Amino acid sequence: MQSRLNVAIVGGGIGGLFAANALKAQGVRVAVYEQAPAIGEIGAGVFLTPNSVRHLQRIGLGPEVEKWGARVGKESRYFRHDGAPIAPVQVTDSSGWNATFGMHRADLVAMLAAHLPAGTVHAGHRCTGFEQDSDIARVSFANGVSVEADIVIAADGIHSELRPYVFASSQPVFSGSVAYRGLVAHERVADWPVDRWQMWLGQGRHFLAFPVRAGQLINYVGFVPTDEEMKESWSAPGDPDVLRAAFAGWDPRIGQLLKEVQLTFRWALYDREPLPVWTRQRLSLLGDAAHPMLPHLGQGANQSIEDGIALATILARADRATAPSALTAYERLRRERVAQVQRGARENGLRYDSAYSDLGVRDAEISAHAAFRRRLYDHDVVPDAQAAAEALA
Ligand code: FAD
Repeated sequence: MQSRLNVAIVGGGIGGLFAANALKAQGVRVAVYEQAPAIGEIGAGVFLTPNSVRHLQRIGLGPEVEKWGARVGKESRYFRHDGAPIAPVQVTDSSGWNATFGMHRADLVAMLAAHLPAGTVHAGHRCTGFEQDSDIARVSFANGVSVEADIVIAADGIHSELRPYVFASSQPVFSGSVAYRGLVAHERVADWPVDRWQMWLGQGRHFLAFPVRAGQLINYVGFVPTDEEMKESWSAPGDPDVLRAAFAGWDPRIGQLLKEVQLTFRWALYDREPLPVWTRQRLSLLGDAAHPMLPHLGQGANQSIEDGIALATILARADRATAPSALTAYERLRRERVAQVQRGARENGLRYDSAYSDLGVRDAEISAHAAFRRRLYDHDVVPDAQAAAEALA
């Protein structure tokens, strides 16, 4: 059945573009408004896990993920800082299905944008205002354009312009850590394995590396403590020598990789407390606008994809009159689950970086954490979303 809904999504990042694809797949009319002059990405790697890959497959992007991603497998490991192995990394769901990929963010964004019909994405539209009444929602943009929609989805990221229209106070919480991130061409480190996710843990800092773009690039992230509160930015330049110094004396493999780094970005790690509400009538939040989280479970993008499939499944059966209750049903399905992931990411960061007097205790916790990841990866929001949609119809 062709839905009569007309949805405007503000923000053409991973969350907004995936949601647009999922809504299109349900026959919902959707337009995406992105502030940047063109859809594109500056970031480095992003990690896709089974709980989102099953939804990318559902909208027909499974082969593209296989093509552009780099599947990581059972050789994935946690190590102590000196290279002593701690435990395998959970890369499958409980059924043993391995759908865990490193992706270049630019590849993921390009793939999501290319899968949408021409004319769906409107670049150069920076949202500056919002209003709604019981019948309609209106979004206005800095370029003077204003659009009306039955529903507006705020997928405009951690600094969301639209979030204050839903919930007024949401202060970023600084974690005390900064991440240096970037990419190294695999040809510069030809021995580096491209079939695994690897993390080294030391006191107060940790180092992560995984392949992206079919193994052509190695994505690295070095997490280090800092006293300096920085702007919440993904793209501030960092000093490669400072990064190298932070991991000097660690496993020589890290030194080998970092020797090749010429350009690195510093990313100050913030999250926000889980919001008590995501929806106000015809406006709902999605992705980082709703739930910015620390990267210590690698779930920012994955959770935004779960949001998108839940939203699309519920809106498939909604119309203009039922739209506000459909959005409330979407929020009900997602808010507590994502809050658990937000809290889990904080806890995992503490586990990675805390000073343990007995490292054996830390290592046992890292091993045991596989059970949490299996539960995370097993989750499929679609059956519950279908039930919620039927209850509304
Ligand atoms: P975002 O990816 O932030 O996308 C929001 C989009 O909205 C952007 O395209 C932005 O330009 C647009 N926008 C913002 N304001 C407006 C406005 N007023 N009007 C119109 N459009 C607007 N997470 C990780 O776990 N690891 C990483 O390495 C990592 N790197 C990142 C690098 C970058 C450059 C960015 C932007 C995000 C990164 N993230 C990372 C976060 C992760 O990508 C997100 O958690 C996840 O993709 C969900 O994102 P989102 O679509 O909700 O928000």
